[in-house]
Amino acid sequence: MRAERILVEGCAVATVDDDGREYERGHILIADGWIVAVGPGPAALIEDGGPVRRVDGTGCLATPGLVNTHHHLYQWATRGLAQQADLFGWLTELYPIWGRIRADDVAAAVGAGLGWLALSGCTTTTDHHYVFPPGAGDLFAAEVAEAGRVGLRFHPVRGSMDLGASAGGLPPDHLVEDTDAALTATAEAIRMFSDPSPDAMVRVAVGPCSPFSASERLMREAAALARDTGVRLHTHLAETVDEEAYCRATHGCTPAEYAERLGWLGDDVWLAHGVHLDGDAVKRIAETGTGLAHCPSSNARLGAGIAPVRDLLDAGVPVGLGVDGAASQEAGQLVAELRQALLVARLRGGPTALTAREALTLATRGGARCLGREDELGSIEVGKLADIALWRVDGLGHADIGDPVAALVFGAPPPVELLLVGGRPVVEGGRLTTVDEQELVVRARRAAERLRT
Ligand SMILES: [Zn+2]
Repeated sequence: MRAERILVEGCAVATVDDDGREYERGHILIADGWIVAVGPGPAALIEDGGPVRRVDGTGCLATPGLVNTHHHLYQWATRGLAQQADLFGWLTELYPIWGRIRADDVAAAVGAGLGWLALSGCTTTTDHHYVFPPGAGDLFAAEVAEAGRVGLRFHPVRGSMDLGASAGGLPPDHLVEDTDAALTATAEAIRMFSDPSPDAMVRVAVGPCSPFSASERLMREAAALARDTGVRLHTHLAETVDEEAYCRATHGCTPAEYAERLGWLGDDVWLAHGVHLDGDAVKRIAETGTGLAHCPSSNARLGAGIAPVRDLLDAGVPVGLGVDGAASQEAGQLVAELRQALLVARLRGGPTALTAREALTLATRGGARCLGREDELGSIEVGKLADIALWRVDGLGHADIGDPVAALVFGAPPPVELLLVGGRPVVEGGRLTTVDEQELVVRARRAAERLRT
């Protein structure tokens, strides 16, 4: 199906291109899902045939659609629990609840989480799903189907855990998969759903969960599978001091050294968190081209610490932003992570540690780099996909801030006037257009109630 042509005009535009070009009043022309013109002032005459939908962007700021680099959408159905716990305590409390999850719960949680992400300006998201209880149904197929319904660009990570408590891991034995079964299912997920084409709406990655829930063999063989099939690799690393102590006790090295030993540093890998990284780890992550998903709100919620984002950026690491799983970050709004990233960077490194424009870059180009989609996503430029967020910044919360990018990042999350994914509207006037919001509410609440009891 051909998407209609759309002309957005009269808005401020932050392109986030190489030169950081911004227009006080500019235009963006979209055809067949791609950006075909962008610039200051009104668009030049549109000559050739076919209707053009004109969007009056007065009072708005256009940015690239935000890219969420780390999430666990299923956790939407288990929010608000383990409120004072650190990561290991939180996981230990939640694992048994997650053990009850079924495909319809996953679909409900994914729908709600994606709808909420769309309303916060997100056009592309990952989802790291690593809980596959026996007999639960096809959870991965359920989430891919739900993402198609909501209409966001989707990078589901087929996660896995095979290191149960009896083998020295953290999860209970009944929640882990057999190593070979996990690898087979991961290969099948890639075969079934991963689309390598430039305008792909679904692209799969491979993701054993963490050093304390995945065996060395699973990590090594999953990396080999990803490289054989040309997909990316994702896992948690260096999130907490407990994880570091676990790695030192179990493997005699830091989490980053462990990852490198297993083939898990490289330009096809992006890691979640990286809170506890020493100078050597930052250097190796940079040298290998490994990306990093920074999740400042989740790290704060679990009291895990503040990732050294300034050091990572200075070293040249591709850094994206992530909301992280909804059960450790109940707010789940990607736009709020721009402000949170800026604030925690400054708590760690002072008021010059991160600028508003750097925060916007993390959430757009940085994320696109983590997902290996820098050529198609992350900036408003001719030849890139028309994934665009149009923020309303003329209301009470923002109108008097002269710099619209500062309004977006320093201010409260503004309403999304229009969200385009490949030129298709997913949000208009602050409402979802693809799915019924109330239906998402009802299904998610039903799933949450079922899992809690
Ligand atoms: Zn996570």
